[in-house]
Amino acid sequence: MMLKSELSWSYSRDRLFLECRRAYYYHYYASWGGWEREASDLSKKAYLLRNIQNLDAWIGDIVHQVIKWILENQIQGNTVLHDEAINKTKQMFLKTWEQSRGKLWVNNVKHNLNLFEHYYNRELSRGFLAEKLVKAQRSITNIYSCGLLETISGLSKDCILRVDELDSFDFEGIKIFAVPDFAIKNELYTLYDWKTGKPTDKDALQLSCYTLYAHDKWKATIDNIQLVPVYLAQEEVSLNPIKALKTEEVKTYIRSSISEMKSCLKDASANIADIDKLPKTNDGWRCKNCRFQEICVPGQKP
Ligand code: SF4
Repeated sequence: MMLKSELSWSYSRDRLFLECRRAYYYHYYASWGGWEREASDLSKKAYLLRNIQNLDAWIGDIVHQVIKWILENQIQGNTVLHDEAINKTKQMFLKTWEQSRGKLWVNNVKHNLNLFEHYYNRELSRGFLAEKLVKAQRSITNIYSCGLLETISGLSKDCILRVDELDSFDFEGIKIFAVPDFAIKNELYTLYDWKTGKPTDKDALQLSCYTLYAHDKWKATIDNIQLVPVYLAQEEVSLNPIKALKTEEVKTYIRSSISEMKSCLKDASANIADIDKLPKTNDGWRCKNCRFQEICVPGQKP
């Protein structure tokens, strides 16, 4: 089946749109179809570059996958021991590191890690890498110590609503990807988001987008939803909910973001962007860590 390019919305898409519109163009438009044999060179290259991950995203990805594995087992009544989870984290770390170092992505861009630091020949000390592994393992340890697994073991399977699956919902005709990492229903709908970075002032907005998903999927209302960002890399982790933004406020934000994105299209029905409306950022410091610098910055080679 031929995939059709269509405008969708997610919090991360909005972030990229705000940070650098040219990077947004490369990520969501130039790369479209870059997986096809007959795609243009630019499209193939943009697709390759959009699949590059930086160190923090890589660690976050490993942590998400290991937690998913722990939770799915727990829900089935199989306890994954802490040591097993720590070992699995290390195995995934080493396996994906080798994928990137050995450039296995040359044969399969989508399913092999391509680290930014490898691709652009940035130096990585063993000590720095070891710190990243420690961070990933601390995040997993914190899942065991925060009380979540005890909460789950007291719930029936019906109360587990979702465990880190790709999903979307419709918002005024646009597909929205804004889905919590984990969701349960006890007295309230509790939506969790695993965070391997530090708290930011944007977290409330990001998590509040999940309330629209919860309403769409389970008819939950803002009064019976609690949003829990879990800052896993900290020394001590709590499961404290944060205050959600008002539903209308979230809808207004998303509506306005979509409208701005639409204004950068030259053919809305075919979802074709106008590159002239998606200029390079003026924040030059962003380019240093940008995946797309090879095609965006003249003379830049990996
Ligand atoms: S290199 Fe700079 S201007 Fe170009 S896409 Fe990246 S952040 Fe934007």
